Amino acid sequence: MPNAVALNAPALSVVIPVYNEEAVLQALFDRLYPVLDGLGEPYEIVFVNDGSRDRSPQMLAAQYRLRPDVTRVVLFNGNFGQHMAIMAGFEQVRGAITITLDADLQNPPEEIPRLVAAIRAGHDYVGTIRRHREDSAFRRIASKAMNRLRENITRIQMTDQGCMLRAYDRALVDTLNACREVNTFIPALAYTFAASPTEIEVSHEERFAGESKYSLYKLVRLNFDLVTGFSIVPLQWFSLIGMLLALGSGALFLLLLVRRFVLGAEVEGVFTLFALQFFLTGIMLFGIGLMGEYVGRIQQEVRSRPRYRIAAVLQQGGDAGA
Ligand code: UDP
Ligand code: MG
Repeated sequence: MPNAVALNAPALSVVIPVYNEEAVLQALFDRLYPVLDGLGEPYEIVFVNDGSRDRSPQMLAAQYRLRPDVTRVVLFNGNFGQHMAIMAGFEQVRGAITITLDADLQNPPEEIPRLVAAIRAGHDYVGTIRRHREDSAFRRIASKAMNRLRENITRIQMTDQGCMLRAYDRALVDTLNACREVNTFIPALAYTFAASPTEIEVSHEERFAGESKYSLYKLVRLNFDLVTGFSIVPLQWFSLIGMLLALGSGALFLLLLVRRFVLGAEVEGVFTLFALQFFLTGIMLFGIGLMGEYVGRIQQEVRSRPRYRIAAVLQQGGDAGA
């Protein structure tokens, strides 16, 4: 970064990924800007449009024209996912503190000053815990289960991994920018590098309008990113299961052998054996699939293609095209 940029760097940068959010953007603008103006410090908001197919990019451009002093808009030319959008935002931010926020107003912008205060109290990473989570029961239960799984297989300690309202200090953002991972989960990635992480409770609201951009399929993919990106414990489970099964089947073989000599050959147990076999085949297929998840990610990393493509950046001092 050239020094000139660092000299007039804002105190605070806010990064917001936007994907088909035309229904909420105006309400977001109406609540976010007053909160940040109220801080009385220089700030910037970096919106990253993740290939929306609705009017979101036009609305972001209009907002940029309205407040060009504090607004920057990164326009992707496709949908690269929420976490890649945030990564692209991180590469743009100039602030000493960076806050991430969802566009749908589930994370109230009014909580931002508390996150800033926590960073200034000496933390380099501020996570959040949603006080009353306003999501469907299915999402809440599934997310609890994933939290527990993550706790057991990684050393990442987060009470609530799903909430994207978080704050990072400058050094941490620089470190994240040095990571070239394609499939990642930013809160977990940041946590692995944080020297003094903390968590605060924040309120949570229902999505203001529009619907969740995560289908069940996308949620499953995201959780695979979280598990395989930060732990190889699942693979190790399979060696363990394999070992136990080998021991078990060895014992079964011995038992059948002895039985054959004592009682004669048996056929009645055949269906039990089938059931057992199907069960084992199921485990094997799952194991192969899981291995595929890792191998697929390795393949994506070694290809080392650009992670996203930026069509344009709207910002003061010349709109950079790419
Ligand atoms: N998002 C994105 N790209 C995607 C999916 C989502 O940039 O492919 C953004 C979306 O616009 C929102 C945030 O990520 O700002 C969280 O999405 P959403 O609220 O739909 O997720 P949920 O709250 O259901 O987990
Ligand atoms: Mg949401």
